[in-house]
Amino acid sequence: MTVPTPIVDALPPMRVAERLGRLREQFDVAGIGALLVTTGANVRYLTGFSGSAGSLWVDGSRAVLLTDGRYRDQAPAQVASAGVDVEVVVTGAGQPSPLRTLSVHVAEVGLEAGSITWSEQRGLAQVLDSEAVFTEGLIEGLREVKDDGEVARIEAAAAVADAALAAVGPTIAAGAVEADVAAALDHAMRTGGAADRAFETIVAGGPNSALPHARPGPRPLAEGDLVVCDFGAVVDGYRSDMTRSRRVGGTGIGPEAEMLAAVLEAQAAGLAIVAAGVPAAEVDAACRAVLAEAGLADAFSHGTGHGVGLDIHEGPGLSSSATGSLRAGQVVTVEPGAYVAGLGGVRWEDTVLVTDDGHRPLTGSPKVL
Ligand code: ZN
Ligand code: ZN
Repeated sequence: MTVPTPIVDALPPMRVAERLGRLREQFDVAGIGALLVTTGANVRYLTGFSGSAGSLWVDGSRAVLLTDGRYRDQAPAQVASAGVDVEVVVTGAGQPSPLRTLSVHVAEVGLEAGSITWSEQRGLAQVLDSEAVFTEGLIEGLREVKDDGEVARIEAAAAVADAALAAVGPTIAAGAVEADVAAALDHAMRTGGAADRAFETIVAGGPNSALPHARPGPRPLAEGDLVVCDFGAVVDGYRSDMTRSRRVGGTGIGPEAEMLAAVLEAQAAGLAIVAAGVPAAEVDAACRAVLAEAGLADAFSHGTGHGVGLDIHEGPGLSSSATGSLRAGQVVTVEPGAYVAGLGGVRWEDTVLVTDDGHRPLTGSPKVL
């Protein structure tokens, strides 16, 4: 069971109860009379239930959370605490699946293609008294725009990560081992109130910094190394994401110093245009233009950003191929980087809330050159 921490108790409530209605509004367009929700984060979004085993049946009038005996107490408690109109049914081995009865009067049941395996789909075909229909992104689309309670949780997670870096940052020096710095960040986030780290913490120095998703290893940092620290915390299920780069011993001069400055300028250019109504691809283009000017076009080998929430990577994507425009209430990262083999890598990343006239940063650690 999720243990309420002082951080969570102080946060404003989320508006969970209205989400089922917004999902049902999409049923006609999707060509379904019901949806079987099997993606854990989507079940949590709609019901408040955070257990590892649960699927949610949603039809026009009922919502039924199916879980097993391990969650006999937790599931009803979390559903009640979220204030949602959801029945909880505890299923067990040898019992007939409640899905057959639930699906009797529904012609088409949507399955979430992103989380159903081929074998699960075949098993459900035996159980459901309906035609199974492919669906994709119905709930993920709703999740893109956050309510105030969700933003407060992401902001609280970001504050925990900021505090961890403030505590651990002074130890990022010559001789420090990547894996030890990563473990110290993780520990500081947990003792600072995080339920978990948001993803596997990246601390990458010297040659490893040239790998955008390097895993922290046994290499001690050396004077003059570029170091990339990418990490985040989880508070009440919601994540933060931030990257800070530095050079061991100070920025100094030379190509490393130029790269630190150029990527920071690229991030500033991207952040400057973040606002509701702006095409997501334009934010990517703004970052890319600065790096091209600095001769680092080819060194920026990933998209500029992504949505953050219950998942560390969710919609919207901020890349050159993104088709949509930003909306107020979305929480996104802006994280240009440059990676040069033999020299090292740099990334600056913040998590920000998109507003009508710009953005509000949720991560706040200083960005010093
Ligand atoms: Zn990150
Ligand atoms: Zn990120």
